[in-house]
Amino acid sequence: MFLDTRVLRHLTAEDWRVLTAVEMGSKNHELVPTPLIERIARLKGGASGVHKSIATLAKSGLIGRMKEAKYDGYRLTYGGLDYLALHTHSSKDVVYSVGSRVGVGKESDIMIVADKTGKQKILKIHRLGRISFRTVKSNRDYLRNRQGGSWMYLSRLAAMKEYAFMQALQEEGFPVPEPISQSRHTIVMSLVESLPLRQVSSVPDPASLYAELIDLILRLAKHGLIHGDFNEFNILIKEERTNKYTIEDGEEKETETVTLVPVIIDFPQMVSMDHVNAEMYFDRDVECIKRFFKKRFHFVPTQPGPFFKDAKKTVGKDGAKRLDATVEASGFTKKMLKELEKAIQEQQAKIDAGEAVEEEELDEGEDEENDSGSDSYDEEDEEDQQEEEEHAVFEIPANVGRPLS
Ligand code: ADP
Ligand code: MG
Repeated sequence: MFLDTRVLRHLTAEDWRVLTAVEMGSKNHELVPTPLIERIARLKGGASGVHKSIATLAKSGLIGRMKEAKYDGYRLTYGGLDYLALHTHSSKDVVYSVGSRVGVGKESDIMIVADKTGKQKILKIHRLGRISFRTVKSNRDYLRNRQGGSWMYLSRLAAMKEYAFMQALQEEGFPVPEPISQSRHTIVMSLVESLPLRQVSSVPDPASLYAELIDLILRLAKHGLIHGDFNEFNILIKEERTNKYTIEDGEEKETETVTLVPVIIDFPQMVSMDHVNAEMYFDRDVECIKRFFKKRFHFVPTQPGPFFKDAKKTVGKDGAKRLDATVEASGFTKKMLKELEKAIQEQQAKIDAGEAVEEEELDEGEDEENDSGSDSYDEEDEEDQQEEEEHAVFEIPANVGRPLS
């Protein structure tokens, strides 16, 4: 699954209305019946206008038709949902153009985007359910039978949860990217000019960076939270330069100091300190950092711990606001947290078992119109892929990327 914005500019107002109608219909139908799409879209051009738009959308892979379905209908694809989200971000003037893909995580795509002024930001597209079983059929049953719903719903939950936590953490002064906007399964946040800790080969003072990271784990705990995936990919290292002026022998001297500042990202799996498995998650986060510091920087702390039982005693102390409660209060119910947690765990289990394949099969092959329409893009597709490989992270400014409209 790759975010391809080329068609975006060519969609008409009617196309958008039909796409929105399919999305609305998806709330109650896995496969939205064509008459329902027509009714919701209620286009001026009548049914023929709707059919034209349906054909355009299907050809572009934004909606898909299931071959063996009992009735005529369509469902939204990841591509269609991506477009709707981008449309919302762009109408809020948050995103104007889409640049290169920074990374593809196990559950997300990360893109550099820019607004009209050229300011770069990060678009994170959640893709829960992208990974499927080897047999597409069983995956389809799995998605259908799961309580609470589809990949669309779960990916949206992941984005909502991540956004809510980012906001709460930022308000408490934690070093996180600035949350800018959320729509459906996507969030836009500030771009942190940094390297993931994973790509940092040496640091001047491992002990102090280690202490700072452990301190972050403890600060989170005090606010009732465990990151749950506190590893070298989810810790970004920013360099902050400060200049100091001193007078030596009557002369002014300037010295530059570089400080490494960690910024934490990736919050869909965060858990409360009250979670039944809190101790396991807490210990795992601590161990992750210890293991990495030993391996990468040959640094072993002299003190054991920190321990969950000590951290537990600090929850809510000294007036620390409980952020697990804040997020629940923001409308994220316990039921939603449970559903999301289950989905993330199931997905992880599939990855661990090596059963994961890309969900792409689900989006393609089901839709004949889609197949025939994609041919003309082949050459450009290849070029694009090459372009992507040639550029390292952060090298393509998004303002020279593709404008959305
Ligand atoms: P996933 O859930 O797929 O692991 P992450 O949120 O951890 O997604 O992001 C994956 C990668 O994208 C990170 O390791 C980092 O390199 C990059 N990234 C994510 N957010 C930002 C950001 N705000 N600024 C800079 N890089 C980022
Ligand atoms: Mg990550």
